[in-house]
Amino acid sequence: NPVLAGLGLVKKYGSTVALDGVDVSVGARDSLAIMGPSGSGKSTLLHSLAGIVRPDSGTVLLRGEAIDKLSEERLSALRRKRFGFVFQFGQLLPELPAEENVALPLMLEGVPRRQAVERARRWFAPLGLDGLEHRRPGQLSGGQAQRVAIARALAVEPDVVFADEPTGALDQTTSTEVVRLLTSVTREQGAALVMVTHDADVAAHCDRVLQVRDGRISNYTQFTVA
Ligand code: ADP
Ligand code: ADP
Repeated sequence: NPVLAGLGLVKKYGSTVALDGVDVSVGARDSLAIMGPSGSGKSTLLHSLAGIVRPDSGTVLLRGEAIDKLSEERLSALRRKRFGFVFQFGQLLPELPAEENVALPLMLEGVPRRQAVERARRWFAPLGLDGLEHRRPGQLSGGQAQRVAIARALAVEPDVVFADEPTGALDQTTSTEVVRLLTSVTREQGAALVMVTHDADVAAHCDRVLQVRDGRISNYTQFTVA
C-alpha cells in the first residue's frame, strides 16, 4: 500500500494547465524524483502532493486518507506532523545554532525544548554532522547546511519528505554526498521521499524517476528491482 498517492491530479491557473491528470504514488522507504523542463508542472505536482496547492480535481491520499479535502487548519497541522520539507537553500534560521534549527519542528509540536534538542542531536551522526551542533548556519558550508536541513525535515519522523531542488545550490561533489545521505537516511527512518531536481545524476539516486512534460507524465523509470 502506498504511503502517498496522487490520483488524477488536475490544476489550472487561468488558461494554463499546470497539471493535466497525473497519477503517482510512493511507498514507505521509496524515493521518487520528479524531473522535466521549466514550466512543465514539477513544482505544482510536488506542492499538490504536499498539501500546499489544492488540485482542481483528483485527490491526494496519505495512507488512504484524502488530505485535499481537509480544512486549511487541519491540513497545515498534518503538514507539520507528517511531512518534512527540504528546499534549495536559505531555510535555516541564521540566529539559531544547528541543533536548535533541527529541534524547532519538534518544539512547534509541543515537545519541551531540552527534549527536542536531545532528539535533534540524534540526527547529527547519521548525517555526518558530529561536532557541528552549536554552529550557526553562517558558519556551515553549503553541504553542511543542507544536511542540517535534512535533519530538520526528519526531526518529526515524518511519513514523507519533500525536497525541492535540494542540491540546486551545491557543486557536483557536494550534491552527490547530500543526495546519498538524503535518500539513505530518509529510507532508514522509514519515510518516503519525493524530490524535484534538474540534475539527472541526483535523480539517479532515487528508486524511480518521473519525467513531467506539459503537466503530464511523459516517462517513468524504475531503477531498482522490487
Ligand atoms: P515547474 O516547476 O516545472 O517549473 P510549475 O509547476 O512551477 O512548473 O508551473 C507549471 C505551469 O503553471 C507554468 O506554466 C507556470 O507558469 C504555471 N503556474 C505555476 N504556479 C502558478 C501560479 N501560482 N499562478 C499562475 N501560474 C502558475
Ligand atoms: P521552480 O523553480 O521550483 O519551478 P518557480 O520559480 O517556477 O519554481 O515558481 C516558484 C513559485 O511561484 C511556485 O510556488 C509557483 O507555484 C509560483 N509560480 C510559478 N509560475 C507562476 C506564475 N506564472 N504566476 C504566479 N506564480 C507562479
